[in-house]
Amino acid sequence: MLKKVKQRFSRLLGGNNKTQKLVRRDIPRDEHNVSRTSISDPAKKVLHRLNKAGFEAYLVGGGVRDILLDGKPKDFDVATSATPEEVHALFRNSRLIGRRFRIVHVLFGREVIEVTTFRGNATDNTDDSASDQRKTSEHGLLLRDNVYGSMEEDALRRDFTINALYYCIRDFTVIDFAGGVDDLNNRQLRLIGDPETRYREDPVRMLRAIRFAAKLDFAIEPATEAPIRELAPLLTHIPAARLFDEVLKLFTAGHGEATYDLLQRYDLLAPLFPDTVRALNAGEPDELIRQALRNTDARIRQGKSVTPYFLFAAMLWPALQAEWRKRQDQGEPIQPALHQAIAKVIGRQIQATSIPKRFSGPMKEIWELQMRLPRRQGKRALTTMEHPRFRAAYDFLLVRENAGEVEPGLGQWWTEFQATDERGRERMLSQLGNSGPKPKRRRRRPPGNRTA
Ligand code: ATP
Ligand code: MG
Repeated sequence: MLKKVKQRFSRLLGGNNKTQKLVRRDIPRDEHNVSRTSISDPAKKVLHRLNKAGFEAYLVGGGVRDILLDGKPKDFDVATSATPEEVHALFRNSRLIGRRFRIVHVLFGREVIEVTTFRGNATDNTDDSASDQRKTSEHGLLLRDNVYGSMEEDALRRDFTINALYYCIRDFTVIDFAGGVDDLNNRQLRLIGDPETRYREDPVRMLRAIRFAAKLDFAIEPATEAPIRELAPLLTHIPAARLFDEVLKLFTAGHGEATYDLLQRYDLLAPLFPDTVRALNAGEPDELIRQALRNTDARIRQGKSVTPYFLFAAMLWPALQAEWRKRQDQGEPIQPALHQAIAKVIGRQIQATSIPKRFSGPMKEIWELQMRLPRRQGKRALTTMEHPRFRAAYDFLLVRENAGEVEPGLGQWWTEFQATDERGRERMLSQLGNSGPKPKRRRRRPPGNRTA
């Protein structure tokens, strides 16, 4: 009981962080760069229809933040005084989702506008129906947050000050409750309220801090930064499926390598990829991860797609190498050792982040094909090339080659083999020497022993 009272008290203190100015500031149209042309038609439609129906409605979050920074928003979020049911009733093309946070998705072709109802602060509220709608675990983890409130309360429940800026399409003002505009100008990320409390409520906010810091090239303000390392292990309480989604967001925002560095710096990689971190600490190199992330970043810049299974194949590669080698050292033959290692690494990873089957299958195939790619004699190369995952495995091979992991020239060989015609292929295969010795099954050695 006393514990509960204490927690409640500390939450209240957190909510009233004295160092934080909570003064509403309205920035008129001629003092900011958010124009209607920078907002998508679907987002405008949602705002107008909600307003017309008598509700308050604002653009909020990344949509406002990214336009203010002269960037192009990834998507648009709307905050409104309408309840989820009221929003749903207004838009035939909408669906209610979520339990922890009930929100409405309004669908326009491929574009989804996420509409949330202003959230209130149930800690000030002792009535039972409210506490039923806002639940925290004994660690302070927010399990449910469906208490509705005013726009100002809504601003204070958001994560970073730069994410709590509202754009009003009626008078074109930007409304700032938490000093977000100043923080945008100073290029810094600052949590609203007491950082430790806010991270305990939702440890994923630590990952969001890293994601925005890398994406926007912002500094994390000292008080926001301070508790991260100590609280990083709290991420292990987050459902694995949510962490899988967050990992994808972290590494597909176009700044994967910077994100990776920050995750390491703040001890946040371990809760996401425990086996990888263990392998790296034991001396496994991470050059392949870096190369893969650099590749991913380049692909995103070129507007190309990035597949989750390729990303996970790279992130778990050091863990796989360590496990595979351990098994070979224990006397298991190379091929079964690989299969066992794959099963083990995936089995453990899904406890941390989950990997949906549609991704773990192809990831396995990419790994397995790495053993087949050096073996090209006879019909092998042609058979390998017909494998549905050949292309991804070949890309992976190129990344490994860039990371200095495979015999130089193997990637180039495959590049030429794909480009040439039938006669060219025959020639390439005959140059390999059909009757020559089989490729050596080389055992992998720890990086330190490579030159020995
Ligand atoms: P982007 O969409 O570019 O990744 P975003 O800031 O819009 O960035 P979303 O995940 O779309 O991020 O969330 C929209 C808004 O909802 C955020 O800007 C923030 O105000 C609020 N929000 C999202 N997640 C949290 C969270 N875990 N805690 C508090 N507020 C959050
Ligand atoms: Mg968004």
